[in-house]
Amino acid sequence: MTDDIKLELRGVRKSFDGVVAVKGLDLALRKGEFLSLLGPSGCGKSTTLSMIAGFLAPDSGEILVDGRVVNKMAPRKRRIGLVFQDYAVFSRLTVRANLAFGLESQGMPRKERHRAVAEISEKLALCDILGARGGDLNMSEMQRVALARVLVTKPELLLLDEPMSNLDASLRASLRSELKQIQKDLEQTVLYVTHDQVEALSMSDRIAVMRDGAVLQAGTPEDIYHRPVDRFVAQFIGDPPINIVPCRVEDAQGKLVVNTALHSGLGLAGRDVPVGDYLLAVRPHHFRASHEPREGTAESEIRLVENFGAEHVLHVTYGDELVAVVTEPGFAQEGERLHLSLDIEQAHLIHPLDERIMARRSREAAA
Ligand code: ATP
Repeated sequence: MTDDIKLELRGVRKSFDGVVAVKGLDLALRKGEFLSLLGPSGCGKSTTLSMIAGFLAPDSGEILVDGRVVNKMAPRKRRIGLVFQDYAVFSRLTVRANLAFGLESQGMPRKERHRAVAEISEKLALCDILGARGGDLNMSEMQRVALARVLVTKPELLLLDEPMSNLDASLRASLRSELKQIQKDLEQTVLYVTHDQVEALSMSDRIAVMRDGAVLQAGTPEDIYHRPVDRFVAQFIGDPPINIVPCRVEDAQGKLVVNTALHSGLGLAGRDVPVGDYLLAVRPHHFRASHEPREGTAESEIRLVENFGAEHVLHVTYGDELVAVVTEPGFAQEGERLHLSLDIEQAHLIHPLDERIMARRSREAAA
């Protein structure tokens, strides 16, 4: 283990009444890193967080903070800060009293407490509202107070459990950038739990995608989006979701090509997979629509147009299925026919049985 690892989970398991919630999790967080645990409801995110915080004991495995096993350490002694979705800011206390609360219960002398509150208020732009009561704050102020109240205790690690899930969409968007900025400025190590892929993609240094109590893939947002390891990760990330259509890989005079219901002879440069049936995953941005036929296009019909303002999503026929295609606004209307090509370089071949994505230039992966 290297010195810059703040938190490490080694084979951490937890079950409830025989049902496994977390299946032998291995994960490491570097100092100052923002890592998101991303996955659907029930995949084990909160259970993992509760074990790190010390509210739940793992059945087996080790949790290390700064290289020390903390499994048996009481929650208060772990120096881990927690923020949940309800923020739990005391509404009758002033912001100042909210910030001082944790320090007071830690027994910090008055003078030091004042200094610590002043310092964190400055960093989180709270100086002007120190006298306001918790109940009178707007949501942005409330989030900053909830964070400040935890950060003022200088936690080794900050755990955030779906802190924005109760907020409306436009507020979430502005708080995302605010939170990221605060985390960067303070170089705070953060483990962020969310089921929202936009939050994970926009704020994280790395994302660990969880399903059924296991991490399927941990990597940078770029990795997870562009190089998913399997069908689940590919479909969980990206909005509109990635399209998945059946395809067949064939050998055309020594060259591997992909044929789908609409396109044929798509060159598979760089991928060395056995001939056979697969699924092809194509992001809506990687189809190209045109009004006129061109080389590599096939004809399709628009069944539905979704208006997202800056772009439109066309749902168009693709053999027996419909696929989503992103275009500029006003490009075409429902019922029109268009010509579709796809960027095979950006598409993923999925194994039809185990649903892993076939690695590029790897014969072993296909065996
Ligand atoms: P959510 O986003 O809905 O909170 P999650 O990914 O955080 O989901 P967990 O809450 O960790 O998932 O739950 C993982 C699994 O463990 C689920 O099947 C859940 O029903 C089960 N579970 C969690 N806590 C308990 C408990 N105290 N007793 C029994 N089962 C539990």
